[in-house]
Amino acid sequence: MVASRAITMVRMQETDLRTPAAGWDIHCHTRFSDGTETPDTLMRQARDIGLHGVAITDHDTWNGWQEAEAASRAYGIPLIRGTEITAHVDHTSVHILGYLYDPHDEDLAAMFQRTRTARFNRVREMVERIHADYPQMTWECVSRQVREGSQTTIGRPHIADALVALGICRDRTEAFSTIIASTNKYYIPVPSPTPLEVTRTVKKAGGAVVVAHAGDRSRNRQLLSDERLEELIDAGLDGIEVYHRGNLPDQRRRLKDIADSHGLIVTGGSDWHGAGKPNPLGENLTSDESVQRLVEGRALPVL
Ligand SMILES: [Zn+2]
Ligand SMILES: [Zn+2]
Repeated sequence: MVASRAITMVRMQETDLRTPAAGWDIHCHTRFSDGTETPDTLMRQARDIGLHGVAITDHDTWNGWQEAEAASRAYGIPLIRGTEITAHVDHTSVHILGYLYDPHDEDLAAMFQRTRTARFNRVREMVERIHADYPQMTWECVSRQVREGSQTTIGRPHIADALVALGICRDRTEAFSTIIASTNKYYIPVPSPTPLEVTRTVKKAGGAVVVAHAGDRSRNRQLLSDERLEELIDAGLDGIEVYHRGNLPDQRRRLKDIADSHGLIVTGGSDWHGAGKPNPLGENLTSDESVQRLVEGRALPVL
């Protein structure tokens, strides 16, 4: 009896660490940052695979929203407008998902502008460093990989794509683990706001805040600590992305326990990048109930 109850409990624990079978994919990238597809393609594919809705979350920008809004109406797929915002603390890179905030909020617009300018200057400088050893690698090669011109948030993936186009690297993964790896001499860190600054700014602009893939050991040698997470919770953090391919079971357990004990929303997302990453759309999902809690009372409605 006792043994069978123990088995049931283990099964339950395993089950709640798995993504919901149906729901919303609320972590998706398009050509407006480092994804390879348009917002229109995102919405069409979402309809084709039967998602209940999607969020567009390009890095440090809302430039893709307009196209996504039109596609949401055309395909009848509900849309959450969002952004994945780059932050940094304690030598740890942290990604914050902000949803349904007022894009005209001055502090928020200024924060995005600072990050985008810093990213642009940093990529230019990294390209110059690489050029010194690989003369064929130039700024023009990187520009050719930027699909929406000045509307695109430029980052390391665009350098990777240029290295692949030149035949220096086989694919993005190889580029990220060799030439543009954070341990390599060509690497320059992005000057970023802290997760606490980002959380406060998005909350002030009426948005919902979710910390993305905080248990992904492949991104950081040192993960965002419980203490730092508590700080964000005190500042009004709404949710934690538990269902993400980078969060392995032990980290899913840790993050889910923190979310449950503070009454936070548990979310999931594929981190879809089109052909830019292997993650298929809809690979990880957020339940309808969690989405309902996430979107309630925000500056913008779900479309
Ligand atoms: Zn991310
Ligand atoms: Zn992402």
